[in-house]
Amino acid sequence: MTPADLEFDRQHIWHPYTSMSQPLPTWPVVAARGCELELASGERLVDGMSSWWAAIHGYNHPRLNAALERQMAQMSHVMFGGITHPAAVDLCRRLVAMTPDALECVFLADSGSMAVEVAMKMALQYWQAKGESRQRFLTLRNGYHGDTFGAMSVCDPDNSMHSLWRGYLPENLFAPAPQSRFDGEWDERDLAAFARLMAAHRHEIAAVILEPVVQGAGGMRMWHPELLRQIRRLCDREGILLIADEIATGFGRTGKLFACEHADISADILCLGKALTGGTMTLSATLTTRHVAETISNGEAGCFMHGPTFMGNPLACAVACESLALLEQGDWQSQVAAIETQLRQALLPLCDEPEVADVRVLGAIGVVETHSPANMAALQRFFVESGVWIRPFGRLIYLMPPYVITPEQLTRLTDAIAAALRQPALFQR
Ligand SMILES: *Cc1c(COP(=O)(O)O)cnc(C)c1O
Repeated sequence: MTPADLEFDRQHIWHPYTSMSQPLPTWPVVAARGCELELASGERLVDGMSSWWAAIHGYNHPRLNAALERQMAQMSHVMFGGITHPAAVDLCRRLVAMTPDALECVFLADSGSMAVEVAMKMALQYWQAKGESRQRFLTLRNGYHGDTFGAMSVCDPDNSMHSLWRGYLPENLFAPAPQSRFDGEWDERDLAAFARLMAAHRHEIAAVILEPVVQGAGGMRMWHPELLRQIRRLCDREGILLIADEIATGFGRTGKLFACEHADISADILCLGKALTGGTMTLSATLTTRHVAETISNGEAGCFMHGPTFMGNPLACAVACESLALLEQGDWQSQVAAIETQLRQALLPLCDEPEVADVRVLGAIGVVETHSPANMAALQRFFVESGVWIRPFGRLIYLMPPYVITPEQLTRLTDAIAAALRQPALFQR
């Protein structure tokens, strides 16, 4: 890429959550292989992000590439209305088999946010079909569920700046963020606050929506599975649906195939995305029970009211099938366990650094929370110059590497974080 390309990018192309007038620098990546990103300059960076939870098998995987080529030779796309195809059937058969028994019916959509929209619409249509007007969702503070309007309405109201959309965004119910940590003591007060809110609105709530055990982009917090068990119990008691957004946590990232397994529970509606295609293409899935699906189908509309143009895209389905096959045949459990052990060894001692407020590790996720926000541009440059790709935000520096990362590559990542913490200029004191 030439300097003119980069200048065009700066002048004309929006990147995630950036300003068009004062954009942060972007780094030109021209290839990615295994656990490395290759810059236009020829430098290679060890990837600590899996491109936001997605590239679990590493980049440019020969089996994922071959699956795409095989599918491309048949058809890249065909409409899903009135048509089905082998890639979609294979994928949904796998998803039904690998998720809890009760989740039998699959809706394929284009992105994580759309999977959340679909889940919320399912819950609304479910209650409408039952003849009850229930139009609110109960969730936890510090959550993140996507950037479309429905999804935004259940994101943390402060982090996602609900003030910008006041009057336009539906007003949902927010229980306090869980205080009991994943590996700490269980504190009943987390449940009390949630239960009070649920009791006060029990006839208005269509569903509870949450990210089981790990809250991702809303703060990278890891919370106690007992709360999830208790929320499941309350939902059962009230007949309220439980939506588990496992778009970030699904497919092994937390050490279990799905994070709900930490609490031994199953949701009524499950959202999957991100790692579904091994980071190759955008695709998401929303699964639900026969009971929810049939209730919706017997309602006034007589069908579920959703149907995106690129629904069930064959290329995306084919590569997702291959990614799930890789996961099933592979050794993700020991890979994730080894990453967890190494992250603990390397990151927990950083608690002693004056800049560090907290360190948290679960599965292949490592988080260092600092006292002061990072100077984003400077810290990003520092990491790139250290040969690693780590994308911090706010007061969070975090790692979620591909499962196939080597111990040496992981050490490069954790060493870079340790070195950054010793450079006060990288943080806004
Ligand atoms: C990323 C994410 C989403 C949104 O997915 P997109 O593909 O970015 O639309 C929703 N929920 C959770 C938990 C996520 O991490």
